[in-house]
Amino acid sequence: MKMSRKTKECPGCAMEIDADETICPICQYEFSEQKSNIVWIGMALLAISLIYPVYLLIKKLVTSLF
Ligand SMILES: [Zn+2]
Repeated sequence: MKMSRKTKECPGCAMEIDADETICPICQYEFSEQKSNIVWIGMALLAISLIYPVYLLIKKLVTSLF
């Protein structure tokens, strides 16, 4: 039994590829891009969760002024 290299499954073509690959050699699926998209979604959700209470507060203040 020989030692196999660390692999990961490609979401694009379901093939086992080298874990170090950033682009799938079979279907050109970009792993780095997906990772950055998840980061952006996380940042967007964080921004919404921070901005929304402030928006509600401003809306309340504006309503009380007029
Ligand atoms: Zn692939």
